[in-house]
Amino acid sequence: MSHYARGRIVMNIAVVTSGGDAPGMNAAIRAVVRAASGQGLRVIGVEKGFLGLIENLFRPLTPRDVSGIINTGGSILKSSRCDLFKTPEGLEKASENLKSWKVDWVIALGGDGSMRGALSLSKVSGIPVTVIASSIDNDIAGIDETIGFDSAVNTAVEAIDKIRDTAVTYDRVFIVEVMGRNRGFLALEVALASGAEFAVIPEHRISIEEIGKRIRQMGEIGKKSSIIVKAEGAMGDPFQMASQLRRLTGYDLRVTVLGYIQRGGVPTARSRNLACLFGNHAVKLAIEGKKNRLVGLKDGKVVDLDIEESCSSIKKIDEDKYELVSILAV
Ligand code: ADP
Repeated sequence: MSHYARGRIVMNIAVVTSGGDAPGMNAAIRAVVRAASGQGLRVIGVEKGFLGLIENLFRPLTPRDVSGIINTGGSILKSSRCDLFKTPEGLEKASENLKSWKVDWVIALGGDGSMRGALSLSKVSGIPVTVIASSIDNDIAGIDETIGFDSAVNTAVEAIDKIRDTAVTYDRVFIVEVMGRNRGFLALEVALASGAEFAVIPEHRISIEEIGKRIRQMGEIGKKSSIIVKAEGAMGDPFQMASQLRRLTGYDLRVTVLGYIQRGGVPTARSRNLACLFGNHAVKLAIEGKKNRLVGLKDGKVVDLDIEESCSSIKKIDEDKYELVSILAV
């Protein structure tokens, strides 16, 4: 555990990026390394996410190692999905490696899954963790915003602005599929910001007939083109959906799947600033000894919440926002 030497706290912090990458993760790594270094703490980077904890892929990080990354997407530490980490053997091995590097505290950057992984790690190893909410899905319970969400929303909206030009010119209906296998936070935010006519999200079941009816109604009020923003986890295959709607409405439908362009790219100023604030806050929690907290944004403020509590709750979709998409589509 941490101890004091000549009046200063001595501590080794391991930092790891896990799960889906999100723009701003690098800015957060930079913030952790530099905020920690300012307090005389050492930071050790773990490569390839939780897999790197198991495979002992550790390397010390200095403030110079994190130069020039505040404006880059992805993660300089790399990331992974790691099923072995869900097993007792994987967690034991990770715990052994952390102890051999004399790690006192783990800061993990990731989404909902990574938060669960970090909590399991802390239970098995006894080493405290802090999770910095970083995910384009923005589906972590208890907080309003994660690092990277704003960047992904902006990327998708920019793409839809371009798609709309063709939709209007050709009187077409476009289905634009955005990421979100289980939750529709990204799709909803993107639908509202791009002025889409429909948000199709996993939280709200809607029949294909109903969508077809609404497309025809749009036509009757003079809207010859529409944008349907669909989360990947809602209503199955978008190409099948398009051919069904073609049959039901007689409209010319096209599909664009935005895919991985939403995960990468230059982080927005908002994502970078959240990264700076969250990274600094995470280091503060380690210095204060406040264990197993999730760092995120809530009601406009940086907060830290009990990880266990967040893991046992489900984030609710904003129903007013969902309604507003339809209200403004007339
Ligand atoms: P994200 O963090 O972006 O939501 P995932 O859901 O893929 O991404 O989770 C990232 C990793 O976290 C998984 O590949 C796995 O290694 C780990 N993980 C997820 N859930 C658990 C769990 N219940 N126990 C241990 N590890 C987990």
